[in-house]
Amino acid sequence: MKYIDEYRDANLARPLIAEIARRVTRPWVVMEICGGQTHTLMRYGIDEVLPAQVELVHGPGCPVCVTPLEVIDKALAIASMPGVTLVSYGDMLRVPGSHSDLFHVKAIGGDVRIAYSPMEALKIARANPARRVVFLAIGFETTAPANAMAVWQAAREGLQNFSMLVSQVLVPPAIRLLLGSPQHRVQGFIAPGHVCTVMGFEQYIELSRDFRVPIVVGGFEPVDLLEAISMLVAQLEEGRAEVENQYARSVVREGNRPAQEIMARVFEPADQKWRGIGLIPSSGLKLRAEFAAFDAEKVFDVAAHSTDEPAECISAQVLQGLKKPPDCPAFGARCTPSSPLGAPMVSSEGACAAYYQYRRHAG
Ligand code: SF4
Repeated sequence: MKYIDEYRDANLARPLIAEIARRVTRPWVVMEICGGQTHTLMRYGIDEVLPAQVELVHGPGCPVCVTPLEVIDKALAIASMPGVTLVSYGDMLRVPGSHSDLFHVKAIGGDVRIAYSPMEALKIARANPARRVVFLAIGFETTAPANAMAVWQAAREGLQNFSMLVSQVLVPPAIRLLLGSPQHRVQGFIAPGHVCTVMGFEQYIELSRDFRVPIVVGGFEPVDLLEAISMLVAQLEEGRAEVENQYARSVVREGNRPAQEIMARVFEPADQKWRGIGLIPSSGLKLRAEFAAFDAEKVFDVAAHSTDEPAECISAQVLQGLKKPPDCPAFGARCTPSSPLGAPMVSSEGACAAYYQYRRHAG
């Protein structure tokens, strides 16, 4: 399959591994931002074939993982109300809130449905005018255009039984926060190719300049990631700090302007809490005032409760690349994909689930 098989070809991967080994002269710490990239790295054992000097740490780019516990609790409260249909991506149903999860609400009679896009939620709303249909809209810049389009369409149709519980996050402010932390260890970043397909990479040029850090926009297949790591190692060894685009088959500098326009029409920047990290200024999106009728938080008036993570879960440090999943005492013992304590073990994109699934655990 074009653009898949050729990026999984061992004959292309081997020279890239050799090139990285030839170039590297000292230890470097590289972070991939996106959970999809983390899974590829683990699945293909890329972390195990790189020279020991190249350490991979994993960033906060798993949308389920960084969705705040408070948002899950609000979704649970809304889904438990009579006459409500809550529509969500499948991964979200297993994410534990403070006391329950959406699967449990469904099991005891709540109308919780799985969808692959917000447009399916719109269809459900049109077909069920007597029910109030809420879409749990989480994710990075990749999901925001479709979510914006759904609200735009609902407004055009005057659909009064549709709303959205929004928890949209933006990547560049999170990188800025990580780089501003005195504890940070990351010397080069693989930026998420799908996010940059939408947004372009101009914001990453600013980050690279401000922090003198190399950033390579990378794809999701093993050859993509090896090439991105090779480009980063070359920059680091040569003392350069630039933005380079490995994923040129999908990403252009300015991104997808129509997608950005619909996002900007419907959403505006907002301070956003990230699970495991905390509040990051201007790192989220909220619905503009003219779309308040579609804002589930306003429609249902669900109160924000401050909630605590399980004490032994170190997801905050995992999501910032300060620790790796096996450093967590609960990893693979009290915390497994079938009995997760924290979101990075629940989501198929979470770093803890990736380490568990791809054998990086003693058990
Ligand atoms: S292994 Fe489980 S408890 Fe430990 S950091 Fe990951 S999600 Fe949290």
